[in-house]
Amino acid sequence: MVSRVIPVDPFDLVIFGGTGDLARRKILPGLFRRHCAGQMPETAQVIGAARSDMDSAAYRQMVRDAIHEFDGERPDDCPDLAGFLERLHYVAVDAQGEGGWQELKDLLRKNTVKAFYFSVAPSLFGDIAERLKNKGLARRDARIVLEKPFGRDLDSAKALNKTLATYFHEDQIYRIDHYLGKETVQNLMAVRFGNMLFEPLWNSQYVDHIQITVAETVGVGGRGGYYDKSGAMRDMVQNHLMQLLCLIAMEPPSRFEPDAVRDEKLKVIRALEPVQTQDIVRGQYAADGDQPSYRDDAEDPRSTTECFVAMKCHISNWRWAGTPFYLRTGKRLKERTSEIAVVFKETPHSIFDADAGRHRNILIIHLQPKEGMELGVTIKEPGPGGMRLVDVPLDMSFSDALGPDAEDVPDAYERLIMDVIRGNQTLFMRGDEVEAAWAWTDPIIEGWEERGEVPKLYDAGSTGPEDALMLMHRDGRKWREIRS
Ligand code: NAD
Repeated sequence: MVSRVIPVDPFDLVIFGGTGDLARRKILPGLFRRHCAGQMPETAQVIGAARSDMDSAAYRQMVRDAIHEFDGERPDDCPDLAGFLERLHYVAVDAQGEGGWQELKDLLRKNTVKAFYFSVAPSLFGDIAERLKNKGLARRDARIVLEKPFGRDLDSAKALNKTLATYFHEDQIYRIDHYLGKETVQNLMAVRFGNMLFEPLWNSQYVDHIQITVAETVGVGGRGGYYDKSGAMRDMVQNHLMQLLCLIAMEPPSRFEPDAVRDEKLKVIRALEPVQTQDIVRGQYAADGDQPSYRDDAEDPRSTTECFVAMKCHISNWRWAGTPFYLRTGKRLKERTSEIAVVFKETPHSIFDADAGRHRNILIIHLQPKEGMELGVTIKEPGPGGMRLVDVPLDMSFSDALGPDAEDVPDAYERLIMDVIRGNQTLFMRGDEVEAAWAWTDPIIEGWEERGEVPKLYDAGSTGPEDALMLMHRDGRKWREIRS
């Protein structure tokens, strides 16, 4: 198979916060890989815009170092680092003042597409949007890309949407959730809607329950002060887990087009029932030897912010009534892994002896650390000794079927940035989606605050608090092992 690189129009991409952590770790190395893949038109240019005072030569040096630090072996695979660096420019811009804006305007070429990536603190989104518009840098077809977090509750998200709407139309606003840029997440849609096999079974008649797990091994050390104001519910559930849930649960859109897909996702969020208090567990990791506890990391010995959440959700619609969705995410857990498991019901009647055991199919969508899918099917255990059943994975490893090119897929940021350049909003969150997600999340967080609820402690390197296990056991179900 030959990997296809779809050409994009010539573009000017401005990265506000172009010297920051995200730009250095993800955005710029991702752009470098697109350059190496031959996807960048000759006149495409990338302009770093940030507070630090430096010239373009110093910026190129900074980016060179970042690519070496964060892009593993890749710079050696693609010798044209110099060619990429030539595309880069830098201008010191004050997001809240006047400095640098004219210089930025002078740097923008006549390239067809103008995209402005806001890789800065959300408190600066409004200031930058206002200046882009008022200083005549953004035409009607310009695009702005916004990093998370998008608000910290419904009111702040609404206020931010309102501010942005003063200067830009919704079709110019790209709210990024990098989980949606993952190859497997898109494959989930291909598998669901491109095959006859799965869709007829994709409902509460055949699906027992669905589990979504996003587990991290790292704690919040180093950014504990920031994280403590957010917590797992705001930082992970309201955006990443909710988006994954939407893609699993949504109805087939009439076409694979941005608003058709986003309309269906929105319907899922709106159909989510409020979560019952007994159906949600919060946790904080305990100290482990000389490793700090969550509260040590958060620098607040009385912090009640959660860095672990497990919950059971219900979607009130015909497709999913009666099928629970279990979500779980946390820090300092056993392994770093993200997966979705669609657990089908057992066969209604077993024709085999009791000792053949009861079995069920599970479709697992692996998102991290490796992307791929696995379908567990039940077969006869090979050899003599009667009919004993065993569950084996039906291999859905794309690399075997598609060859080495399947391994060389763009990462989430690369894909999403190129989607911005192409003007395709399918994998970006629309304003009403974000607001609906907060409208569902807010009462949960408010409930904790009103009750003064303290998260349960769990051992670092474990699967979370005991109560999270009980959440499943109570229903006669079990979490899948946290395994990378
Ligand atoms: P950072 O603190 O490392 O960088 C901030 C950048 O903003 C710097 O380039 C700085 O010069 C610039 N800046 C600050 N004040 C400015 C001003 N007044 N005018 C112009 N530029 C100014 O932050 P980061 O970690 O790169 O995060 C950027 C954004 O991305 C944040 O919204 C963050 O929540 C989000 N985000 C970051 C990550 C990550 O992995 N770092 C992941 C997801 C989302």
